[in-house]
Amino acid sequence: MAGDSGTATGYPPRMAARLDEYRSKRRPGRTPEPLPDRAESSGAPPGHERHDSPGGAFVVHEHHARSLHWDVRLERDGVLVSFAVPKGLPEEPGTVRLAVHTEDHPMEYADFSGRIPEGEYGAGEMTIWDRGRYETRKWSDDEISVVLHGERARGRYVFFRGGSRWQVIRSDPPSDPGAAPMPEVVRPMLAVAGTLPAPEEERAWAFEFKWDGVRALARVEGGRVRLFSRRGDDITATYPELAGLGAELGTTRVWLDGEIVALRDGRPSFSALGGRVHASPRRATQLAARQPVTYLVFDLLYLDGHSCLDLPYEQRRRLLDKLGLDGPHWRVPPHYTGDGAAVVAAAAEQELEGVLAKRLDSVYRPGERGTAWVKITDLRTAEVVVGGWQPGTGRRAGTFGSLLLGIPDEDGLRYVGRVGTGFTDDALRSLRTKLNRIERRTSPFAGAVPRDRAHAPHWVSPKLVGEVAFKAWTNDGRLRAPTWRGLRTDRDPGEPAS
Ligand code: MN
Repeated sequence: MAGDSGTATGYPPRMAARLDEYRSKRRPGRTPEPLPDRAESSGAPPGHERHDSPGGAFVVHEHHARSLHWDVRLERDGVLVSFAVPKGLPEEPGTVRLAVHTEDHPMEYADFSGRIPEGEYGAGEMTIWDRGRYETRKWSDDEISVVLHGERARGRYVFFRGGSRWQVIRSDPPSDPGAAPMPEVVRPMLAVAGTLPAPEEERAWAFEFKWDGVRALARVEGGRVRLFSRRGDDITATYPELAGLGAELGTTRVWLDGEIVALRDGRPSFSALGGRVHASPRRATQLAARQPVTYLVFDLLYLDGHSCLDLPYEQRRRLLDKLGLDGPHWRVPPHYTGDGAAVVAAAAEQELEGVLAKRLDSVYRPGERGTAWVKITDLRTAEVVVGGWQPGTGRRAGTFGSLLLGIPDEDGLRYVGRVGTGFTDDALRSLRTKLNRIERRTSPFAGAVPRDRAHAPHWVSPKLVGEVAFKAWTNDGRLRAPTWRGLRTDRDPGEPAS
């Protein structure tokens, strides 16, 4: 300390020396950070210089440097004693976090926020995450125990040292008494295959596009993202471009559910993603630069120490929207209420894989496949004429098992296949009655109906027009995997359909 030249500054000599390291790391005119001049600094206000200070001001900066961290700064002897905490102050007692003791900062720094330019020390955005007053409970060379009175940081924290390594714990109960630690693993909820809900029920459902990618759940805490596959494997290293999601969320703690997709011409392309799924971390880093993925986040399962699993879908989506996730490689895709058929039509138009219907009042059941989520992948529909039916067996013994379908063309009614699924009990009953009334002896189809498709069929007059959803046309002009959607009483069977 001898020869210290702090004599003419507002800081007492000892403090001026304490800021030497701070000054030596920063270049005047290059950084917007406060650089109190040794000769004319405003210095510490009187009354903040007592060594046995009962406390003082504190500030926590969120520092988006090369690696995100939070700088906790405590006023002490006229300077800000500083710790860089990579994951921020813990919320729950028992969580021990690394805290790196850094150089003392001048008191002026308590008011600083701004962007430190590229190339300068600590380059990146620095914002004030919280500030307030604190009380000192203990301050020794290897233990600093303080009670923070901030807006966000409240309660007792202990910084303690083992060797040169500092760590910090919270020693009070969580400031939010209802908060609980987030689970380490969550399994995704799954959908059953099905069809659009009936139009009169549509208002109880939301519709989302089905994205052709890899299901992934994200656990974000302390600004760090961990990604898990559907089976619970840690796949974080496979998608390094998603790490920035942690920086965007900051200290907000969440579990998210979504789909990782590779977009090609604006559309998810599973083949474009294919090379990534099994890539080594090193290869993944190369691919991330060349063909980055997009994480489409569609659900929120935990938020800041609270489970969202028992909240209805609608409310979870609202909370998710409020997070405002929108980054270079992640976003929240839209969901629609009401007109499911329009969403299906849009999905077909954009050549997407399908549509998910989710009940607005449904809770999230991890790892379960339930009827509250329905995936609809039969995006095509056709109008068909019923030309016959086959008796059912088992549960359907009293009624028909399938309907034989045709589409009128220039030669008459052309057989296009049969449909045996998609009927409600009511539909089975009322269709059976209608079919009985129009039964006839001979086939209404032009040409033969393949025998293996129709054993002992009952023929009917071609008077009933219905709609089916199906996956695709086969090469021989048949419907692949059709599902009954209902009668089209507004259509004339003579009209060529679709
Ligand atoms: Mn920092």
